[in-house]
Amino acid sequence: MNPVLILRFYHEIVLKKGNRYLFVQQLRENINKIVKGYDVDSLKHGPMVTTISLNNHLDLEALKERLVTLNGIEKFSIGYRVSLDILSIEKAIMKLIECKKGDSFKIRTSRTDKVFHLKSPEVNKLFGDFVREKYDLKVDLNNPDIVVNIQLLKNSALVSINEEIGIGGMPVGVGGLMAMMLSGGIDSPVAAQMMMNRGAKVIFVHFHSYPLVDGTSKEKAKELTELLNRYQFDSTLLMVPFGQIQQKLILTTPPEYRVVLYRRFMVRITELLAIKYGAKAIVTGESLGQVSSQTIENISVIDNAVRELPMIRPLIGMDKNSIVTDARRIGSYPISIIPDQDCCSLFVPKHPVTKGSLKLVESIEENLPISQMVTEAADLAESLHFHWPN
Ligand code: ATP
Ligand code: MG
Repeated sequence: MNPVLILRFYHEIVLKKGNRYLFVQQLRENINKIVKGYDVDSLKHGPMVTTISLNNHLDLEALKERLVTLNGIEKFSIGYRVSLDILSIEKAIMKLIECKKGDSFKIRTSRTDKVFHLKSPEVNKLFGDFVREKYDLKVDLNNPDIVVNIQLLKNSALVSINEEIGIGGMPVGVGGLMAMMLSGGIDSPVAAQMMMNRGAKVIFVHFHSYPLVDGTSKEKAKELTELLNRYQFDSTLLMVPFGQIQQKLILTTPPEYRVVLYRRFMVRITELLAIKYGAKAIVTGESLGQVSSQTIENISVIDNAVRELPMIRPLIGMDKNSIVTDARRIGSYPISIIPDQDCCSLFVPKHPVTKGSLKLVESIEENLPISQMVTEAADLAESLHFHWPN
């Protein structure tokens, strides 16, 4: 009896009627990528669960690490796939319980298929009695040390203990492609992860003012992309040189409007690149009121520069503390707090305009060769590619 890694799909995928087939298909494809580099003995895809067994089963723990970033997984655990009879299930329970410490337990049964002759509560009772009699453990339905999960399928049963919680959401790839504006800060990586968790794939766009400033923000963007790439397996990072545009704006525009103007140019360039790469939306890490460029007045002046794609701001209603908690959870926080000179802080006053006027902005931009500036910057974008697992 070799152990298997059991992956349960997130309920939202399974509940989807019309798209369920596509979602499950995408999740299976993504699971196939996860096992890259492992000697897989069998990979069994069921309607709501996949099991993986490896030739060298000792590697299962290492493989489990990869599930932490797999969108679409609700729970995962190491257990056994056994035949659908009482003795085999008992054997699996014994193997699992013997290497676990604890005083209390509970059995949780689900019947994906109704072939088995007993109903879930009866199965709970049957194996509950078995465990109580065999081991010095008491039943605790509310806060047990050990949870034995038994899933009864058509031709087999999956038995595991102490399932771990996956990140849920939708499998990456079902939500279309979006252009993610990735700064070196705390917010945008969190926004990216949120969209990937809803099944979107993102292409990263980073603006930098190198060599006007040092290359730290570029390095941070690379590191963040590498980290976030674990959620979507392969990524493109577009590094757009922004210094020339900034120098031009500095010569021709009032200082308090520069942040908003930088942003208008950034979103224009991002839109051009997004369309070139087939992305259907622009995502940013803005949150209402966090800084002066994120007032509703300035947000609408920035939005006005985008022609056709929707602007998505997943963090708009989140406060900084929750964003920081998420950044720590996904591991981007330590990278984000490395000091750098963000291109948007270059040549801007301490108190930029908080309620930008579109009319005024348009009159400032009137004499600028906007489309030429945008095209030139987009053409100079340097493209980097990331793959995981390697
Ligand atoms: P972040 O922590 O994501 O940098 P922030 O609170 O510092 O956010 P801003 O710097 O005003 O806020 O940026 C708002 C959003 O604009 C960012 O979340 C990001 O999506 C985009 N953005 C800002 N600077 C850049 C950049 N250099 N390259 C790409 N996108 C950027
Ligand atoms: Mg920033």
